[in-house]
Amino acid sequence: MKTPMKICGLPPIAIGEPIKNNIYLDMKPDLCQSCGFPIFEENKGTNRDNSKNDDYCTNCYQNREFLDHSLSLHGMQVKLMEMAAFHNEITLGEVEQIIMNLPRLKRWQMSSI
Ligand SMILES: [Zn+2]
Repeated sequence: MKTPMKICGLPPIAIGEPIKNNIYLDMKPDLCQSCGFPIFEENKGTNRDNSKNDDYCTNCYQNREFLDHSLSLHGMQVKLMEMAAFHNEITLGEVEQIIMNLPRLKRWQMSSI
């Protein structure tokens, strides 16, 4: 009987076993820290030097500024509800999830202190 190869005291590697702690399973899309929508490379907001901003989407943030400065947390919630009513791409359930998450986002934490 062959003994499995041992490397530096690590347990022997069983080939074909699924790898646990797969980092890709933990990967979540980044959320816009203003409207709560997922942000991807294509819809990231822009900084003044035209580089991408990792925190906000292009609908909320362009050229290092919020597009709608006076928007309150409540205003954003209303806006999202309207979006759900008029757009088929997003369901009311999805919007409710996003709205529930809004107070945890960076932009609104600042204003609630
Ligand atoms: Zn946004």
